[in-house]
Formats: sequence, C-alpha cells, structure tokens
Amino acid sequence: MLSLTRLAVDHGKLRALWDVSMHVGHGERVALLGANGAGKSTAMGAIVGLYAVASGGIEFDGAPLQRASTAQTVGRGIALVPEGRRLFPGMTVQENLAMGAYAAASRRALDEPLEQVFGLFPILRQKARQNAGELSGGQQQMVAIGRALMSRPRLLLLDEPFIGVAPLLVEEILTALRRIAEQGVTMLLVEQNTHRALDFVDRAYVLENGRTVLEGSREDLLGDPAFAAKFLGLE
Ligand code: ATP
Repeated sequence: MLSLTRLAVDHGKLRALWDVSMHVGHGERVALLGANGAGKSTAMGAIVGLYAVASGGIEFDGAPLQRASTAQTVGRGIALVPEGRRLFPGMTVQENLAMGAYAAASRRALDEPLEQVFGLFPILRQKARQNAGELSGGQQQMVAIGRALMSRPRLLLLDEPFIGVAPLLVEEILTALRRIAEQGVTMLLVEQNTHRALDFVDRAYVLENGRTVLEGSREDLLGDPAFAAKFLGLE
C-alpha cells in the first residue's frame, strides 16, 4: 500500500532523512521506532506532503506520492495525527472535528464520520460544544484522532499519540485504535514506548540518523539482542 524507497528529505540546508526504505501492506499495523531526532516525524511529514522529497520515492497504491500536496494526500486516503495534536484550542470539539472533513461536500457528509468518531470516543459527544483547549490531554488526543478519521482515511499515520495522555486513557485510545484497524484502516505508528508500540503492531522499522537500520516482526525484534539492548532497556 505504502512504499518509501531510499527516501531523502532536507530541512533547509540540513539533511534530516538520508536513506529511508519501508513498506506498509494493506491492513497492516507498522511502527516506526528510533531515538529523538532520528527522523520519524520527518518521514511522516514527507508522506503527507508537508516536506519535499530531495531524492528517492514514495508510492501509495502503486502511484507516486512525492509531489502531492497535503490536500491531495488526504484526498487519496491518508490522514496524519500530528505530534503535539495541533488542535485549535479556542474552537469547540465539534468544530475541530469538522476541520478534518473540510473537503466534505455537504453538512450531511459530515454526519456519518462524526457519528463514527462519537461511537469510538463517547466522551467527545458529551464535550462536543466545549472548547478543545478545556479538555484533558487524553481527550484532546481523542479529538486529534477523531479529526483525522473525519476524512475517512485508509492509511492513518499516528505521531506519538500517547504523549501527555493519562494511563487509563492510553488504554481507551488503544482499544479505539484496534477497532479502527479492525475496520480495515492501515496504520503507521511513531511511538517512544517500544513495548507499547510492539504490543500494538505486526512489524516495525528502526530509524537511526535518518536511515532505516533494522526491520522485523515483533518476535524478530524482541529476540534480537542488539535491539533489546537499545530499545528495551535490557543488557
Ligand atoms: P522526535 O522524536 O524528537 O520528534 P524524530 O525522530 O521525529 O524525533 P524529526 O523530528 O524528524 O525526528 O527530526 C529529524 C531531524 O531534523 C532532527 O535533527 C531535527 O532537529 C531536524 N528537524 C525536524 N524538523 C525540522 C524543521 N521543521 N526544520 C529544521 N529542522 C528540523
């Protein structure tokens, strides 16, 4: 479904990605792991058209993506839940959710995905008319995920969705993500907590200094001593 081939991306004069290759199949859940600054968010941004591709390629459903705008990537079925949520705190929950469906042709076209979001996160129905900035961190993350779902994506990119989320709500969000995945949505997850990431995904890639250095199934990675030493705090 999604392929990155020898992808390089610059931030101004600084090269952030040097050589990133990865593949996500239809219906898979894949994690992108790596230390701070390894390039995980840059890879996510390049996929959705936020950052230009310097060399290499991105393909989605067999067609190139590297020159697509963010609006075009949404149109093709990709949605990003960005790091730090990026909500509009002075707008209501419902208004924030509607921002995710700005391409919807009519009010009625909003109702169905909105009902789906409220079904996944019932608390958001109760808080629909409150300003997003008044919600807890976990509830705000639900809004950010809900907003991404409003465009009915087939591929959902999640950039560190559990930062600032209380443990009880982490479980609730994970349950919702499992339900979304069961509906056929493919997922690429950036997550600092390696155990939590590997509990959720089928496979993972490890980035180091803008390069993919390791790839494997959950079992492969958990059984790899070098990986365990670096990412699981085991010696
Ligand atoms: P983190 O977990 O800290 O978000 P990351 O793996 O997502 O790390 P990136 O945020 O992609 O890493 O950063 C990769 C490199 O690019 C870092 O050296 C970072 O300082 C730099 N960088 C990221 N975004 C920008 C930007 N908008 N402008 C300039 N440099 C950037």
